[in-house]
Amino acid sequence: MNAKSFTCIVCPAGCRLTATPEAAGTWRVEGNRCARGNLYALAEMTDPKRTVTAVVRTGSAVLPYAPVRTDRPIARDLVFPLLKALCTCEVRPPFAAGDIVLRDFAGSGVNVFLTRSENSQPTPAPWQTDVKEKT
Ligand code: SF4
Repeated sequence: MNAKSFTCIVCPAGCRLTATPEAAGTWRVEGNRCARGNLYALAEMTDPKRTVTAVVRTGSAVLPYAPVRTDRPIARDLVFPLLKALCTCEVRPPFAAGDIVLRDFAGSGVNVFLTRSENSQPTPAPWQTDVKEKT
């Protein structure tokens, strides 16, 4: 296996990492500015996982699509099968944030849950709220 270069996504610094295979299944990581980058690179080379966010159809006139998220990172190879399964998923009202939409997807132990209730307002982004500056 050859060396692989990619960007660390753990923090906004975005270090360019290079992982080079060494003897007995070990990896030499270069380009990281901290230990978290080393752990990220090793995970990417041995067991890459992703947290998945998406939307699912609902039977609600108030909120026709509801946002969902995995409760933990899932193996990268399962990301597209999961998204495909969510395309055919539909939740029925009433529903609430935290309700499980898919349980133990493909035996991975990963659940997908709703992150918004049918009648709740979306949480405003920080730039959408009034910020009162301290004087
Ligand atoms: S290696 Fe460390 S400093 Fe660099 S992007 Fe990753 S977490 Fe941030």
